[in-house]
Amino acid sequence: MGDARRGLIIIHTGPGKGKTTAAMGTGLRAVGQGLRVLMLQFIKGSWHYGELDAVQAFGDRFVIRQMGRGFVKVGAEKPDPEDVRMVEEAWQEAERAMASREWDLLILDEINYAISYKMLSPEPVAAALKAKPEDLHVILTGRNAHPSLVELADTVTEFREVKHAYQKGILAQRGIEY
Ligand code: ATP
Ligand code: MG
Repeated sequence: MGDARRGLIIIHTGPGKGKTTAAMGTGLRAVGQGLRVLMLQFIKGSWHYGELDAVQAFGDRFVIRQMGRGFVKVGAEKPDPEDVRMVEEAWQEAERAMASREWDLLILDEINYAISYKMLSPEPVAAALKAKPEDLHVILTGRNAHPSLVELADTVTEFREVKHAYQKGILAQRGIEY
C-alpha cells in the first residue's frame, strides 16, 4: 500500500461495454477516500443517466458535467460544426479543471471518441496531460484511443466485447445502460 500520491493517466478504451461505468466506479472509490472527482462528458448521450442524480448525494465532491449535445451523428463524412464547438468548449473546461487544482480525479468521458471523430486533435490533449499537476489523476474513456495518448498513459485497459445483449435485440436497460 503506497502512500506517495502519483497522479496517473488511465485510459479505458475498446469496443466492449464498461468503459464509462468503470471510470465512475473509480470515481466512487476515490470520493470514498476523500478525493474530489470531476467527470466531464464530452459526448452527451440521448438518455437521462442515473448517475447524474446519484452523484448529487456527494455534493461538490463528485460532480458530473454534461458538455456535449444530445446526439452526435456518427459515420458522417465530417463532424457537425456545432458538435465540434461543444467538444472544444468541453476541452477548454477540461484545461481549466486541470489547472484549477480543485480536483484530484478528472474523468474525461468519451474524449477518445471525440478525438477519433476528429472533433478534437490529440496534440493539445497530450501536451496538457504532460503538463498536468503531478498529483492529479486523469481517466480518458472512449473507443479508439489515440496511439499518442496510449503511449503517454500509465494504465490502459482495452474492453473487449465478448457479447452484448443488444445483439439479441434487447434494448438499453434502465439502471444498466442509462
Ligand atoms: P457503459 O457506459 O455502459 O460503461 P461504455 O462506456 O463502455 O459503456 P460506450 O461506447 O460509451 O460504452 O457506449 C455507450 C452505450 O452503448 C451504453 O449504453 C452501452 O451499453 C452501449 N454499448 C457499449 N458497448 C456496446 C456493444 N459492444 N454493443 C452494443 N452496445 C454497446
Ligand atoms: Mg462510454
